[in-house]
Amino acid sequence: MLNTLRKIVQEVNAAKDLNAALGIIVQRVREAMGSQVCSVYLLDPETSRFVLMATEGLNKRAIGKVSMALNEGLVGLVGTREEPLNLEHASEHPRYRYFAETGEERYASFLGSPIIHHRKVMGVLVIQQKERRKFDEGEEAFLVTMSAQLAGVIAHAEATGSIRGLGRQGKGIQEAKFVGVPGSPGAAVGRAVVVLPPADLEVVPDKTIDNIAAELTLFNNALEGVRSDMRALSAKMATQLRPEERALFDVYLMMLEDAALGNEVVKVICTGQWAQGALRQVIGEHVNRFELMDDAYLRERASDVKDLGRRLLAYLQQARQQTLVYPDNCILVSEELFPAMLGEVPEGKLVGLVSVQGSGNSHVAIFARAMGIPTVMGVVDLPYSKIDGIQLIVDGYHGEVFTNPSDVLRQQYAEVIEEERQLSQGLDALRGLPCETLDGHRMPLWVNTGLLADVKRAQERGAEGVGLYRTEVPFMIKERFPSEKEQLAIYREQLAAFHPLPVTMRSLDIGGDKALSYFPIKEENPFLGWRGIRVTLDHPEIFLVQTRAMLKASEGLNNLRILLPMISGIQELEEALHLIHRAWGEVRDEGIDVPLPPIGVMIEIPAAVYQVRELARQVDFLSVGSNDLTQYLLAVDRNNPRVADLYDFLHPAVLQALRIVVAGGHAEGKPVSICGEMAGDPAAAVLLMAMGFDGLSMNATNLPKVKWLLRQISMSKAQELLDQVMSIDSPQVIHSTLKLALRNLGLGRIINPASDIQA
Ligand code: PEP
Ligand code: MG
Repeated sequence: MLNTLRKIVQEVNAAKDLNAALGIIVQRVREAMGSQVCSVYLLDPETSRFVLMATEGLNKRAIGKVSMALNEGLVGLVGTREEPLNLEHASEHPRYRYFAETGEERYASFLGSPIIHHRKVMGVLVIQQKERRKFDEGEEAFLVTMSAQLAGVIAHAEATGSIRGLGRQGKGIQEAKFVGVPGSPGAAVGRAVVVLPPADLEVVPDKTIDNIAAELTLFNNALEGVRSDMRALSAKMATQLRPEERALFDVYLMMLEDAALGNEVVKVICTGQWAQGALRQVIGEHVNRFELMDDAYLRERASDVKDLGRRLLAYLQQARQQTLVYPDNCILVSEELFPAMLGEVPEGKLVGLVSVQGSGNSHVAIFARAMGIPTVMGVVDLPYSKIDGIQLIVDGYHGEVFTNPSDVLRQQYAEVIEEERQLSQGLDALRGLPCETLDGHRMPLWVNTGLLADVKRAQERGAEGVGLYRTEVPFMIKERFPSEKEQLAIYREQLAAFHPLPVTMRSLDIGGDKALSYFPIKEENPFLGWRGIRVTLDHPEIFLVQTRAMLKASEGLNNLRILLPMISGIQELEEALHLIHRAWGEVRDEGIDVPLPPIGVMIEIPAAVYQVRELARQVDFLSVGSNDLTQYLLAVDRNNPRVADLYDFLHPAVLQALRIVVAGGHAEGKPVSICGEMAGDPAAAVLLMAMGFDGLSMNATNLPKVKWLLRQISMSKAQELLDQVMSIDSPQVIHSTLKLALRNLGLGRIINPASDIQA
C-alpha cells in the first residue's frame, strides 16, 4: 500500500501541469482501488463551486462543465463537512444530485474524501462503483491518505500554473498571490532573482535563453569536465577497487556519451531552455523512471543518475557564477535564505526578500528587519524555482507575495512605499529628541547590532546604547573561529563607535538556526539542543578567548557590558561567572588594567523566569530575550512556518511571564531591559514601558517608530492600556484591542501601514 502511495505521489509530482497531475491522479487511484470511477472536483474560489476537473469512468465531456455549489450534491456535502462520505447507494441520499452529462446513474456506491491543504478545502476526490456496497474501512483510509498527500501536490501544480498566468481551468489570469508570514515590514516592487543552494538539481528554475549556441558550449564544457573527473577518479581508485567496482565509472562515462543523457539535454537546450533547466528536466525523468522500478537494485541506480546530474550542475554553476547579474530593485528568492546571501547583492540593489522556509523569527528575518528590507518568510506553496526574472511585489506587512502584479496593484504598492518613505523622513527629525512620554517618563531606547552596517544606522537614528551585540554574526562570516586578536579588533571597533554609550556584548550564541560552517552542529531538535551558553561552557577555550578579547577591547573605553544567553539555571550562571573572572584575572596579569564590566543574564528560557530573583542576585542586570522566551513558553519552533501563526509575543502567557521578570529583577534592585524583536514593535513597546522595563533594545529600523509612538502617549495612558490588556485571555483580542486603542488615540498610522490594499 505504502509503495503504491509513494509511486502515485511521485508520478503526480513529476507532471508538467495541473491538468496532467489530475489526469494521473484519477487514473492511478482508480487502478489502485479497483473502482470503476475516480474523479477530482476542485473548488473554484471565484465562483465558490466544485468543478469536475478530471475523471476516469465518467463522461470526459463533462470535465470543466459539471459543477456544484457548496450546498449542492454529495461532493458539496463532503467539501463543506470536511469529512469522508461512504455510501452504499448514493442516489438514495437526500443530497444526491444527478448530472445527466456525467452518466453517473450507472454507479451505485460512492466514496468521497475532501482534499484539504493548510486547513483550506481545495476539492474532493471521489470513487464510485456499479454494485451496491459500502467501501470497507481500508479503502476509506486509503482514499483519505491519498487526498491528504495529494493536497500539497495539487496546490503546488496550481500555483505553478498561476505563475504562468493560468487559472484552474486554464483560463488566463493576472497576478497570483502567495501567502507566507511577515518577515520584515515594508513593501517592495521588483524583479525576482532566485538564489540556489550549491548544486541542488531539484530546485533549478526554468529560464529561457536566446543564445542557444553559447548554452550548448557551456553544457559541452561541463560534460567534458565531468568526463575527465570520472577518468581521473577511476584511475585514482585503480589500486583500491576491484575492476567490477570500477565499472561504475565506465557506466557514468557511457551515460555521458552524446547518444545518451548528453544528447537528451542538448535537445532540450535547443528548445530555448538554459542548460541547468534542461539538465534538471532530463535527469528528473531518468531518476523517476529508475525510482518507479520494482527491482531494488535498479531503483538504487537512481542515485547514480542524481549524482551525475549534481556533478554536471556544479560545473554549470561554476561557469555562470561570475555572470549572475543582480538587477536594480532586486528581490532575492530562495528555498532557505541565509544571512550570507544578503551580502552578495551589490549595495543599493536589494529591495526585498522571499524565503520558502523559515518564519518571522528566523535569524535571517531579524537581519532583514535590521537592514530595513521588506521580507516575507515561509511562503511554503511558492514554486520558487519557476519565478526567476519575473516581477514581484513583496508585502512584508501582511506576509504576502504577488507574482506578475497588475498595473493597478503596482500603483497601489508604489503609493504605500512612497508613504513609508515620507513617514521615515518625517521621523528623522526625532533623532536628537529624547524618548519621553507626554507626562515626562524617560524610556531609554537601545539598539541591537551585529552587522557592520548596524553601527551607522544606529547612530543616524539616535540610539542611546547597544542593548544586544550579537557576537555570533562576525563568527558566521568567517571560515574558522576568529582569533583573540581578530575578535579584539572587531569588538574594539564596536565599543569605540558608540563610546561613551554602553555596549552590551553577548557571549557567542550559536546553535538553533545559527550555524557556523566550520563548526557544524547537527541535531534533531536544535532549539532544544546544544545552544548558546551550553556550547561555550563545554568549550571554555572558546569562551575564555572571547571574554578576554572583549575585556582587552574595552581598555580605556570602559563601556562594555557582558550578556549571557540561554541560561537555564544557577549552575550555568555560576560556571560562566567563574570563567569571566578567570579571563579578567588573565587579562590583568598581562598588564591590561580594565575594570570588571557589568554582567547580565538573558531571560529567555521559562526556567529562568521562575528563578529570576536567584539569577538577578548574582548579576548586575537582566535582559529578556523575548524571541526565545516566546518560542519556549508556547512550544512553537520560531523557525517553522507551519506553526508561525501560533508564535505570538502578545500571547497572555508571554505577557504574564514578562511581568514576573520585571517584578523579580526590581525586587533584587537590578535593572531589567528587553532585547527581543518585541521591543521594536511600537504597540508592544507601549505595553513594555508600562510594565516597567528600564530599557528597550531593538533594530535600528524600528527605533524611530517606537520613539515617535512613545512620545505621543502618556505613561498613565500606557498603564491603563496594559491593565486592560492583562485582563484579556485571547491573543487575537489583545491584538485588536491594542490596534483599536491606538487608532482611537490618532496613532494608528504607525502600526498599520498598507492596511487599505485589497488584493
Ligand atoms: C531573543 O531570543 O529574544 C534574542 C534577543 O536572542 P536571539 O534572537 O539572537 O536568539
Ligand atoms: Mg535568544
